[in-house]
Parts: sequence; structure tokens; C-alpha cells
Amino acid sequence: MEVRNVIIIGSGPAGLTAALYTSRANLNPLCFEGHRAGGQLMTTTEVENYPGFPAGIMGPALMEDMRKQAERFGTELRREDVEKVDFSRRPFRVQAHSGEYLARSIIISTGASPRHLGLPHEMELTGRGVSTCATCDGAFFRGEDILVVGGGDSALEEANFLTRFGRSVTLIHRRDELRASKIMQDRTLKNPKMQFVWDSVVSGLEASDGKLAGVKVKNVKTGAESPLAAGALFVAIGHVPNTQLFQGQIDLDSNGYILVRPGSTATNVEGVFASGDCVDHVYRQAVTAAGLGCASAIDCERWLAAHEDEHAAAGNAHPAARAKAVATPGAR
Ligand code: NAP
Repeated sequence: MEVRNVIIIGSGPAGLTAALYTSRANLNPLCFEGHRAGGQLMTTTEVENYPGFPAGIMGPALMEDMRKQAERFGTELRREDVEKVDFSRRPFRVQAHSGEYLARSIIISTGASPRHLGLPHEMELTGRGVSTCATCDGAFFRGEDILVVGGGDSALEEANFLTRFGRSVTLIHRRDELRASKIMQDRTLKNPKMQFVWDSVVSGLEASDGKLAGVKVKNVKTGAESPLAAGALFVAIGHVPNTQLFQGQIDLDSNGYILVRPGSTATNVEGVFASGDCVDHVYRQAVTAAGLGCASAIDCERWLAAHEDEHAAAGNAHPAARAKAVATPGAR
């Protein structure tokens, strides 16, 4: 079976930048894009803070351009999820629906997903009034009373955006102090359409005709619970890294983020690198994810070059000397 030089798992800004750099380094990367290719920018409208686009660019358009750029230099893209990995020996094994793949090195860029409240009926009401993406779903709730949960930059950004559509927008936060940046706080507190429910959490969801009709709000200081009618609930309480696949294979921190060596994208398993929001819970920007994707490609390329003897001894292609990995009959 063919042994690839590098398999990249994930296709957000980190994964596609890693693909761009490793393909330009003639490593012929195979990138598993996942079913929901493109990552979080696919659920964004206008991106105003990606350098190089003074007039802004739509998130999906930016991702399509990144994809084309990676393909131009020979990245092989596969729109399927990775189901299982085995990093216990080299070459590493990656199991996808279409079969098993082998690679000398791996770059993980699986990103993060929105965190849910964990309430009964939350999943069945998602898309029926409950949402984690204001830019995707806000326009469906024109003239309605809208609720937003969270006190960080995401929640405030979503709340402000939603005031374009809602009759009212109420932010429900579990403390009496916001976590968001000062500028976002000022903008939100000044917005005449905004209302605030402090020291409170959403403790239940009420549905009518299969759609959200309201919530129960519990004051965490007094314990008092009261109903609040609303047509929409936007949950913006942070993200969880998409790293379940790697549990037991590489070191993760207590929140599931992949641990990398300081100043590097190397994980605790030699030859496995990680970049983007599955590692970084601090900056979480498209541009920082792309930067880390670049770093992981360079780390990976250097590691492959330093281990060329091992690959030659195993009868495999020299990654720096030969563009294509050696293919044997029946190889993918
Ligand atoms: P975040 O900063 O981690 O904020 C999450 C918020 O949700 C916090 O206010 C937290 O409350 C609350 N929360 C968490 N779990 C909860 C639960 N189970 N029930 C109720 N509330 C809960 O996440 P984020 O807002 O997604 O931002 C993440 C990072 O991206 C930050 O660094 C942020 O600055 C950055 N970001 C930047 C921009 C921008 O610059 N335009 C936009 C969006 C995000 P507590 O405050 O009590 O912990």
C-alpha cells in the first residue's frame, strides 16, 4: 500500500494552509476535508479582519480560494471524515470511509465546534429556533424576540448582529460582568435594542408545534426560575476542540485541546503535528489558524527531511528527493 508523505486532517484555514505549504514543498499531501469542509468560516458571512482583503470577503469565498490554492500545487482533497487513527507505530494509519491510508507524518487541523448548553430537547430544536450561528440563521427571526446566551466576544458580536432582525435581543449571562472586550461591551451596552438578564442561565427549553417558543431562566443567585417567551435562542458559550478521534493517541489537555511542544506544532508523538483551533484556545482567529497551519507544514517538512534515512531503510521514497510517494499495486 502506498505510504503518503503527509496526511492532513481538517480543511479550515489551518489545514488548507498546511496543505498549501506541504504541496509547494513537493510532499503531495492528502487532505481529509471532512463532510463539513472549510471549517467555521463556512458559517460566517463577511470576514473583515483577514489581511489582504480591504473590502472584506465572504467566509465561504475565502475558504474556496484557499482550497483552490492548495489544489493548484498538487494537494489531493477528499471530502470525507476520518473515522479512526493509529499513531502507535509508523507509518501511521488513518481510517476513512473509503479505506485505510498510511502516512509517514500527520498534520491535525480539525478545529473546534460550538459548545451546546446540554439541555433536554436542545438538539431536536436546533434549526427550529435554537442556533449557534447568528450569521447563518439570524435573518429567519425578523421581528421576533431573540435570546442570546453567553458573555464573551462571540455572544456580544452575535447579539449586536441580531438587533438588525429582532424586535428585541436579550442577552442572558451567568454572571453580572461580561467577559467580552471593552469595545464590544460598550457597543452592546449602548445598543437601544439590547436587554440584559444577569446572573442567570437557561435551565429549560419550551417548544410549541416543534419549534422553540420560549425558555426557562434561572437566577443563579436566588435560584428563582421564570419563563421567557422567545422565537429564537442563540447559544454562544465558546467552543470545544474536535479531538475525540485522537483521545488515547496523542496528549490532550483537560479540555481536549491538543498539547504541542512550546514554540512548535509537534505533538508528543514524533511525526504528528497539530495546528489551528484544535490546539489554540487563546487567539482562535482565521489568520492565526492559517499561520499555525503554515508552521505545522514547515515543522513536518523538516521532520521528514531529518528522518529520511528511516524512510529509505523502510524501502519508502525519500520525501525531499522524490515528489511522489512510492506506489505499489493496489495502492490508493
Ligand atoms: P469565551 O470568551 O470563552 O466566552 C464564553 C462565554 O460563555 C463566557 O462569557 C462564559 O461565561 C459563557 N459560558 C460558558 N459556558 C457556559 C454555560 N454552560 N452556560 C452559560 N454560559 C456559559 O468564548 P467566545 O466568546 O466564543 O470567544 C472565544 C475567543 O475568540 C476569545 O478570545 C474572543 O476574544 C475571541 N473572539 C474575538 C472576536 C472579535 O475580536 N471580533 C469575536 C469572537 C470571538 P463566563 O464569562 O462566566 O465564563
